Amino acid sequence: MCVWLMAVLLLQSPVGALRRPAQPLLRSVASRKLCCSSQIEATTERTKVPIGSAPEFAIAGDSTVETPYQRAVVGVHFLISALNLYSAGTHLLPTLASALDFIPLVLTVLLSTVLGDLGTGIFHWSVDNYGDIKTPVFGAVCVAFQGHHDTPWTITFRSFCNNVFKIAYGTIPALLLLPVLINDSAPLVKIFFTLFINWWLISQEFHKWAHMRTPPSPVVKFLQDSGVILSRREHGLHHTSPFEGHYCILTGICNPILDKTKFFRHLERLVFKITGNESNTWKADATLRSAR
Ligand SMILES: [Zn+2]
Ligand SMILES: [Zn+2]
Repeated sequence: MCVWLMAVLLLQSPVGALRRPAQPLLRSVASRKLCCSSQIEATTERTKVPIGSAPEFAIAGDSTVETPYQRAVVGVHFLISALNLYSAGTHLLPTLASALDFIPLVLTVLLSTVLGDLGTGIFHWSVDNYGDIKTPVFGAVCVAFQGHHDTPWTITFRSFCNNVFKIAYGTIPALLLLPVLINDSAPLVKIFFTLFINWWLISQEFHKWAHMRTPPSPVVKFLQDSGVILSRREHGLHHTSPFEGHYCILTGICNPILDKTKFFRHLERLVFKITGNESNTWKADATLRSAR
């Protein structure tokens, strides 16, 4: 994840070369509302998320058709994940003699979920605000996330593999590194990072579900309504120009504290100080430069 962050933040021209215009996207949403008001759905006063009837793409050649290649990429991701968990499990299982021995495992899963949510927020913030098609590895992801603000309904037309395979370009190398970096004597650490990386990929599917008018199943609706996974309302709060908050898309549990503390404004000032790159939120709303 560190390699991706460095690539997105550093390997772009300082003053932009961004695909997305610097002007507030609210205007484009508003004009869309004027011409196709029947396609606009308001979930709350603050969240007006347009709903289109057909997919529209930010990247030439993009499609909602799932291919064998996309299935293979996602399959490799889950195969390596399974091997990592199996390897960790074989070292952990002999140590699980009583119910109390399971507590560290449960805490590891919970911690991976909370930090996984935070990780999705930092990832989403970075690709929303920096990078373009020329960014190595994640160029297409940057353009897809930034274009998602213009046509948020497109994601709902994607199958699972079609939706997440681009994320797997980052997760596969990260998963391959785990056995190299983590000793077999630390199975909980390996489980933590394997889950953390998986939440990164799976959150993109939760993101899709949060855009669907009708959840794909009653179980998903229950999980959304109970806050176990990202809810439609929580993610709807992100979809208003200048798209400056509510970035976490796994459960959304970290969003209130991150937004209240202006975490991303501090990060943006740090990025600007180090690289000279301005965030897209600053370009859309100059007052965010000094938001404390
Ligand atoms: Zn976004
Ligand atoms: Zn979205």
